[in-house]
Amino acid sequence: MKTTDLSIKELRNKIQSRELSATQVVETFFNRAQSLNKKLNAFITLNERAIDEAKHLDQRLAAGENPGPLTGMPIAIKDMLCTQGIKTTAGSKMLSQFVPPYDSTVVARLKKAGAIVIGKTNLDEFAMGSSNETSYFGAVKNPWNLDYVPGGSSGGSAAAQAARLAVASIGTDTGGSIRQPASFCGIVGVKPTYGRVSRYGIVAYASSLDQAGPMTTTVSDAAEILEIISGHDQHDSTTSQKKVPNLIVPQEKSMKGFKIGLIKEYETDSLNADVRKTVHSAVETAKMLGAEIIEINLPLTQYAVPIYYLVAASEASSNLARYDGVRFGHRSDFHSLAAIELEKFYCRNRGEGFGSEVQRRIMIGTYALSSGYYDAYYNKAGQVRRLLTEQFRNAFQKCDVILSPVSTTPAFKIGERIADPLTMYLNDIFTTSTNLAGLPGMSLPFGFSTQGLPIGVQLTADHFNEEKMFTVAYALEAAAHLSERIPNVNA
Ligand code: GLN
Repeated sequence: MKTTDLSIKELRNKIQSRELSATQVVETFFNRAQSLNKKLNAFITLNERAIDEAKHLDQRLAAGENPGPLTGMPIAIKDMLCTQGIKTTAGSKMLSQFVPPYDSTVVARLKKAGAIVIGKTNLDEFAMGSSNETSYFGAVKNPWNLDYVPGGSSGGSAAAQAARLAVASIGTDTGGSIRQPASFCGIVGVKPTYGRVSRYGIVAYASSLDQAGPMTTTVSDAAEILEIISGHDQHDSTTSQKKVPNLIVPQEKSMKGFKIGLIKEYETDSLNADVRKTVHSAVETAKMLGAEIIEINLPLTQYAVPIYYLVAASEASSNLARYDGVRFGHRSDFHSLAAIELEKFYCRNRGEGFGSEVQRRIMIGTYALSSGYYDAYYNKAGQVRRLLTEQFRNAFQKCDVILSPVSTTPAFKIGERIADPLTMYLNDIFTTSTNLAGLPGMSLPFGFSTQGLPIGVQLTADHFNEEKMFTVAYALEAAAHLSERIPNVNA
């Protein structure tokens, strides 16, 4: 088997037994990433120091040290997470020159476990989008078919992972940005419970919804990464004190005693036939493995998209106010600063620094928060959000894990939806409610479309119940036998 096709566990064994050095592993991935990136545009920045860092790890290994469970594992990091000394752009011209002086907690924990940042992945600007087409650094291509989008906003991480340019990748998910690209690229993507993973050092989009999580080839790789990045962080007061469960469980093949919920309201006509077939086959597999299937009602999920776009845009308008070209972000090229009015100065910096999708969200959010509209929009959205969370709480009294589609369709063609923002937003129908309710969710590869594009199914569990979600995922993964399928992309 090729080094780049190995799992975390397999690589760890090879590095620990000295069959492979950390340097060899990192070099192999780095060279592959460098050559395939010309085609995929999955990375905005490659870490030029990665190989030197691996050499340092090899020295530590030779000295008898054990730097940690991820020693020598090259990991691709979405360019929303701050990396000390490596440019962190959020996919925006606004931050195109920003080099953070510190690591985000997620990155710090990965490094502490011995991992190496191989590069920073492309994304929709400030993680706003579902196709990676809003990035200032250009669209990312889907490794399964270069004419198609990889999904978004963590499209670079998804494409890099599917093409095996890293052992594992990190994404962020505010309304589906880990799960939808994972589905489009045929990989595993996990959005943890809100509060499971620290947001410290992650560029803020919508703070009450944002969570970072793993994007990997297999469920057990996702478990390895999630365990390392999870847990309380004194730098993020919204992180939970709850113990991080052991997710690397003996791989369960049976689902006996498990109740799988199907959301009645998700049976919509907008569902593409291939996606419908894939979800159906996952349900049949679960039954075969002994699960009981239960129908549940979640009527408020029909409002998830409008609530999400109000809450997310409102929080974004506030979070992005800091980019004024003085304290943070792009500053326009002024001949003489003394001659310019302050307001014009801000307008020009922000007008040039932000792309049109980000500007649209800032305007929607500012409007929803303005006096006179605050109660009608922002407050109302918050109220319905609470009721939606309540409905999920009741649903999880009846079932252990919810199974549903991730997106209405498989990956679509580059350029197909970008001119119509509303169509783009409406396709977030199955992912946004998970974030609004703060629940853990994941996408698991389970089928292919007639055109050969991957399709994932979504699993959702109750708060801090990742364990149950992973148990179901392990069983379905074993029955699907899909993780061996690798896209055929060559330099
Ligand atoms: N597609 C959604 C949006 O554009 C989700 C993005 C995300 O999860 N970061 O807001």
